[in-house]
Amino acid sequence: MSSRKNIAILGSTGSIGTQALEVIREQHSHFNVEVLTSNSNAALLIKQAEEFHPQVVVIADESKFDEVRQGLRELPIKVYAGQEALADVVQLPSVDMVLTALVGYAGLKPTLKALEAKKNIALANKETLVVAGELVTSLATKNNCDIFPIDSEHSAIFQCLVGESHNAVEKIYLTASGGPFRGRDRNFLSTVRKEQALKHPNWDMGAKITIDSASLMNKGLEMIEARWLFGLEPDQIDVIVHPQSIIHSIAQFEDGSMKAQMGLPDMKLPIQYALGYPKRLKSTFQRFDFVKYPSLTFETPDTETFRNLAMATEAMIKGGNMPCIVNAANEIAVAAFLKDQIGFLEMSDLIEDCMNNISFVKHPSYEDYVTTDEETRRKALEFLPA
Ligand code: NDP
Ligand code: MG
Repeated sequence: MSSRKNIAILGSTGSIGTQALEVIREQHSHFNVEVLTSNSNAALLIKQAEEFHPQVVVIADESKFDEVRQGLRELPIKVYAGQEALADVVQLPSVDMVLTALVGYAGLKPTLKALEAKKNIALANKETLVVAGELVTSLATKNNCDIFPIDSEHSAIFQCLVGESHNAVEKIYLTASGGPFRGRDRNFLSTVRKEQALKHPNWDMGAKITIDSASLMNKGLEMIEARWLFGLEPDQIDVIVHPQSIIHSIAQFEDGSMKAQMGLPDMKLPIQYALGYPKRLKSTFQRFDFVKYPSLTFETPDTETFRNLAMATEAMIKGGNMPCIVNAANEIAVAAFLKDQIGFLEMSDLIEDCMNNISFVKHPSYEDYVTTDEETRRKALEFLPA
């Protein structure tokens, strides 16, 4: 019998998905790919399936079904299409772990389905915890499932907490690179275009998270993600700007001691840690050289210029469906900015408008989240120029 862990990768054609496959290629004695999925990239999905021989592939865009089926007709691989199939496939009995590397709210339903089927999760899709963190983490606890974070900051905190189960966390510090516009003022930000925002100084990522990093919304989403992953109160979560991205985050305990996890910025490391936990698998990832980094620096984030971070913090404190509102508004805002429909600062105006106008629900059910997401998207679209 194979002792390899069977992995389903949702969003295998993206930045995290392709890096996860690089890790699995290197560590093939430990991991086997059971499921691969993409939104509409049929060509890469076919190529990946030819190499990794999953049991099943799913393409969310149904118009691409024939292309994928034709492309894989010689191989014994089942091909499905559509969002429903994406949510169903995570429940396959042979799947041990589901790696959620798709973008945005689309990750919520498959993650809940995976937890219902008692699968462990390697979670990159932070939006799922932002939207419905309480629901997701309580289902994981009820079904005895683990959620292993892939986001580098959360992987760092997770690693700092190994061996500390008897000790309470006083506070965590999530580090932020500050993005490409660190130190800039609102005047400058009013003129920036997507080409500038898409150039991240330290990380090469998908378009949505790169824009979120430039606006600091990413760090706001990560505060909410951390709240649910580590069971913290909002005032236990702080953000510190650290432009070199070497310290990936810090946990502070009740005696005042702090543990930090550090290393070169490379998502393959947190991906491999999540897949391989509790083992640290031997790897050839580039090693850190102290001489190349004579100083590691820290500054306070500028939440007056980068209002998204302040608004996400407010949403975290308010709770209920407010983070779901912020997330949906932000998804529409980022898509509109990427299509040159609105400017960089207008993204914050759109989010604020939705926060002020969508009905607040203190204790939302799953159906409430679905309704909130739909209503917010509708409202946000009204904000866009015709
Ligand atoms: P990408 O845009 O690079 O990739 C997204 C993947 O999900 C692609 O495979 C895409 O398919 C698929 N996808 C997108 N939308 C849908 C949808 N509606 N339904 C089904 N599949 C969909 O994103 P990233 O890899 O950068 O990010 C993935 C997640 O990981 C995000 O939540 C992000 O915040 C998080 N994350 C990413 C980091 C990074 O370094 N990239 C770091 C930390 C967290 P297709 O290729 O066909 O479009
Ligand atoms: Mg991160």
